[in-house]
Amino acid sequence: MGTAAERREELKAVWRQAQACTKCPQLAAARQTVVFGSGNADADLMFVGEAPGANEDKQGLPFVGQAGRLLDTLLNEIGLERGDVFIANVLKCRPPGNRDPLPQEIDACQDYLFRQIELIEPRVICTLGNFATKLLRADPTGITRLHGREELRRIGPRRVRLYPIYHPAAALYTPKMLEVLREDFERLPALLALDPPEQPEPEPELVVPEPEILVEAEAEPAAQLGLF
Ligand code: URA
Repeated sequence: MGTAAERREELKAVWRQAQACTKCPQLAAARQTVVFGSGNADADLMFVGEAPGANEDKQGLPFVGQAGRLLDTLLNEIGLERGDVFIANVLKCRPPGNRDPLPQEIDACQDYLFRQIELIEPRVICTLGNFATKLLRADPTGITRLHGREELRRIGPRRVRLYPIYHPAAALYTPKMLEVLREDFERLPALLALDPPEQPEPEPELVVPEPEILVEAEAEPAAQLGLF
């Protein structure tokens, strides 16, 4: 779907829409920022977490708290850094008190994630924990049964290698889980080295009217856009 530069421009348009989103009135009223995600807009590897926490909400960036530091460490251990990957969440706004995302919030927010995946075109998507895994597999099977096993899945118009692993927050205080998470992480380089998944024939393009943008976000914070 277009060159990397064209896809990145389209991603910026999705970013602008998300900045103005009020589909979840409770989340929109309580948020400081919309945490769209950050990293390389043309990454082969994408991580999908659950939802921003307090630190993420303040800084407008995903995974900047304790779980994020662990994610950075694990990435570095396999020779990668944030700028090599794209990191997003199921929800773009922080649920108050860090409660679990509600089903209606996931429904309302999921199109942003599906558009991100479509535009970034990752080969491998690593889902972190239950919420991302259940959403992207469209199935309620939990992470304990699925972690560390990749599968080819069609997500929107593209096929990707989906690789569910534990959420880093779950491993922060449980050494056994950290061990498993680290083992699962170590398989990522081999997954990235596989041939890219074969893609389905593109479907004829439908002409879909652009969604109306109610409020134009003013400036694009360079930090949140990161490399994308
Ligand atoms: N946990 C998540 O799932 N996402 C974040 O961005 C931070 C913590």
